[in-house]
Amino acid sequence: MTVATEPTTGAVPPPSKEDVITVNKMNKWYGNFHVLQDIDLSVRKGERIVICGPSGSGKSTLIRTLNRLETYQSGEVYVDSILLGDDVKNIEAVRREVCMVFQHFNLFPHMTVLENLTLAPIWVRKMPKKQANELAMHYLERVRIAEQAHKFPGQLSGGQQQRVAIARSLCMQPKIMLFDEPTSALDPEMVKEVLDVMVELAKEGMTMLCVTHEMGFAKEVADRVIFMDAGQIVEMAGPKEFFDNPKSDRTKLFLSQIL
Ligand code: ADP
Ligand code: MG
Repeated sequence: MTVATEPTTGAVPPPSKEDVITVNKMNKWYGNFHVLQDIDLSVRKGERIVICGPSGSGKSTLIRTLNRLETYQSGEVYVDSILLGDDVKNIEAVRREVCMVFQHFNLFPHMTVLENLTLAPIWVRKMPKKQANELAMHYLERVRIAEQAHKFPGQLSGGQQQRVAIARSLCMQPKIMLFDEPTSALDPEMVKEVLDVMVELAKEGMTMLCVTHEMGFAKEVADRVIFMDAGQIVEMAGPKEFFDNPKSDRTKLFLSQIL
């Protein structure tokens, strides 16, 4: 098989205006390992997508290609009609619009909560410090943690740290938020406080792609649920259809193991 070094262009129609993400026949290899296989995906503004699947199926790799934390070798990824290829300007433009929340929070331990939140607005957006502080406090209030603004991440619980991480993303006022198993490193009693914040965001119309096995969340807010296995999108359907009437045996097996 030939592996293109550049994303191919022109072979498919340009993305629809309503789509904020368009992935066309995207393939990615890690060396000889074909980690993402012919991925096709369109996401409209305001849509909430939940991605599930077994460990190692390529979920993280897929969402990481959407803000170019990972490259791909063939096909195309458009975010807000911007082609994510090797063009650094395009990559920067997309990263201004797409924020990611990780399993392990990734807060700077030597900075206070407030400093974690204002860092990017001040240095990337060139926002005056006073305005950045106001913005940060606004989002800390929204995730109900404003009283922790002057603490360091290590002084907070996991659930609080994850809410700080979400508020930090919101400070960049992104068009799209990507979540990679945001609750799977948390103690069970802290999962709900993070999911509650995510549900609120979803209901306010944020475009979201969430890798999660929290199927209650998927049932409550997802417009579509995607099941991935072995680098492929095996099934994609509305939550009712997905849970009540899964088509593929692989999806059925997976659901029987986690529900
Ligand atoms: P998931 O998030 O579904 O658990 P990942 O996207 O993290 O899966 O990984 C998919 C596959 O790619 C796994 O087999 C993993 O071991 C492999 N993989 C992930 N990152 C790398 C990498 N940087 N180099 C080589 N293989 C990788
Ligand atoms: Mg993963």
